[in-house]
Amino acid sequence: MATPKRADATFELENNRPVYTLGVASQLADIPSHSIRQYIDMGLIIPFKLESKRHLFSQNDINRLKLIQGLIHDKGLNFAGVRTMMAMVPCWALRKCSERDKLSCNAYAENFQPCWMASQKGSLCKNMDCRECEVYHALDLDAGIKSVLYTLV
Ligand code: SF4
Repeated sequence: MATPKRADATFELENNRPVYTLGVASQLADIPSHSIRQYIDMGLIIPFKLESKRHLFSQNDINRLKLIQGLIHDKGLNFAGVRTMMAMVPCWALRKCSERDKLSCNAYAENFQPCWMASQKGSLCKNMDCRECEVYHALDLDAGIKSVLYTLV
């Protein structure tokens, strides 16, 4: 029998598996496909990309889509507001960047777009898949971005 920790890990793995097409994700999240495309273009979500360039979404992606939709429709944020909020996650602290890394990374000084949209990333991030990164997932937490900040100060 799986230990609780292993069961959690298996559950998380399942939730991260990209299995839903755009159409299915749209139905599950109850968000029109064109809005999801906008979220992708704005860098609010990074779906899994197939070689054919088609996108696939996981359960975590569906949750994230709903969260973004909630921020826009219930909390009154616009795209720029959501992006600015995402930019506030201190990626350098979570990723433990060196001073040198920070200076070579545009995300460090950027206030209005998340680090995964930086035109030039530091050496720690250059070859990372941002979709798998804890910084990208900071927004997914039920407790919100502040819960990430609590662990850092
Ligand atoms: S790997 Fe990507 S998401 Fe993670 S800190 Fe670097 S740029 Fe940001």
